[in-house]
Amino acid sequence: MNTESRRRFAPHGLTSAGVTFAGSTSQSNRLARQAKLGQPASPDESLAELLAGNKRYVTGQNIHHDFGPERPSLAQSQHPFAIILGCADSRVAPEMAFDQTRGRLFVIRLAGNFVDDDGLASIEYGATVLGAFLIMVLGHNECGAVKAAVDVVTKNAQLPGHLPELIAHLKAPVEKAQRETGSLVDNAIRQNVLLNVETLRNSEPVLADLIKQNRLRVVGSRYDLATGRVQVLS
Ligand SMILES: [Zn+2]
Repeated sequence: MNTESRRRFAPHGLTSAGVTFAGSTSQSNRLARQAKLGQPASPDESLAELLAGNKRYVTGQNIHHDFGPERPSLAQSQHPFAIILGCADSRVAPEMAFDQTRGRLFVIRLAGNFVDDDGLASIEYGATVLGAFLIMVLGHNECGAVKAAVDVVTKNAQLPGHLPELIAHLKAPVEKAQRETGSLVDNAIRQNVLLNVETLRNSEPVLADLIKQNRLRVVGSRYDLATGRVQVLS
């Protein structure tokens, strides 16, 4: 990310609907707003709501079916409580998997659910300007991107177009998984989640600073395609 991009996404002085996120006063405004919206108001509450929503989804007890009523208010502003870094896989749909309406999740998706500079900038925007409390890296079983990375690392598979650039981001978790026993693909999927969680937790200056202040938490998880269940990994 270049200097200009970093300046644009720096936390100081950024506002959303008149709320600044740089001081204690703005933090209290942020909490009051979430309470008014009936949304989670801390990292732990946000994780609990995601897991509760996933349980509703898995058991067929979704409470969000009618998506019309919130549309007018969402046209004015958005206050998502969680950021999801997920795979582009068409079978993994975060709003459905966590039984959430629009406006509650800030979702970044690309094949292989990894952090690059542009994704990081989007995540920083969600955590600072929009004030989300939680980042969840959401991997899933049978991930085609990770499988392709395994083929590249173990069989020197040749991929067309821009795919090699994407797969380059997934080689490190595959190589780490090669030192483990069990399924290489499953282990690489888990290692990919864990590595990206660490990248986000250590990301200076924006995310690491928010984590130090207990205003942000980063967790890793895995979505099971057959059951829809999300398991927290870290
Ligand atoms: Zn995938």
